[in-house]
Amino acid sequence: MNVLIVFAHPERQSLNGALLDVAVRELEAQGHKVQVSDLYTMHWKATVDRDDFPGLSSDASLKVWKASHDGFAAGDLTEDVKAEQEKLRWADTVILQFPLWWFAMPAILKGWVDRVYASGFAYGVGEHSDKRWGDRYGEGVMEGKRAMLIVTAGGWPEHYSERGINGPIDDLLFPINHGILFYPGFTVLPPFVAYRVDRLDDAKFGVVADQLRERMRTLETIRPIPYRRQNYGDYQIPTMEVLPELVPPGVKGFEVHLAPERD
Ligand code: FAD
Repeated sequence: MNVLIVFAHPERQSLNGALLDVAVRELEAQGHKVQVSDLYTMHWKATVDRDDFPGLSSDASLKVWKASHDGFAAGDLTEDVKAEQEKLRWADTVILQFPLWWFAMPAILKGWVDRVYASGFAYGVGEHSDKRWGDRYGEGVMEGKRAMLIVTAGGWPEHYSERGINGPIDDLLFPINHGILFYPGFTVLPPFVAYRVDRLDDAKFGVVADQLRERMRTLETIRPIPYRRQNYGDYQIPTMEVLPELVPPGVKGFEVHLAPERD
């Protein structure tokens, strides 16, 4: 299996750097091929602007969606973006690894998504009509590939529990898991989250590293998050709301997008 890890931490000698080494070593020991996009080392450009669209004439106003669509169709995006898109095509599994910063991914990784996920590649794919909102949420260019997050957080697990002050971790990560990974078609695996990491000692690092190795060993077999697929009858058209009869009493919020587990 080909695995792409997109790594977003400014310091290679960090806990995240050490966990990256653990993941890469375990994956390679399992016979997988691994590529790492180390965004800070690459000096990844994190903002979308005119420079991303060399084919856009200087007197045209920048409409990012259209410029992205035209640039992708013409093979005229920047070389750094095209290289990342090629890695995504190569990968069977994609891992985004980052420290939780302000309850989200670091800006550099968001910028990777903003720039690499071109229109016609990660969105704007398939039929868009009165009857269909394209190939997305379970379909699209990434269909058949798996993806997951490796996240480190300073907060305790309890802070991210159902009643925890930070909000449940699955809710905080929903925009990434559902919006960034499931949208273009990835099958999304449960995230690996290491909590309370800021004062980690060697013994606790050993525990986290063992848990991460286990997750890397089970990439191909672990049960994905059972998100409802868009074009398979669960959503009413054109409002794209889950059919009310499919939502059990008391279920609301992000949870309505989870299908009942099938055995
Ligand atoms: P490091 O700082 O590199 O290391 C953490 C600990 O692990 C240290 O004790 C270090 O000694 C130890 N360690 C490192 N490598 C090893 C090794 N090889 N072996 C053994 N021990 C090792 N947290 C939240 O929960 N929610 C937030 O919203 C949030 N927002 C943040 C925003 C910002 C801007 C910042 C800077 C931090 C925020 N944090 C938040 C905390 C953040 O998530 C953690 O600091 C981060 O996940 C720690 O990962 P790191 O790789 O930077 O760790």
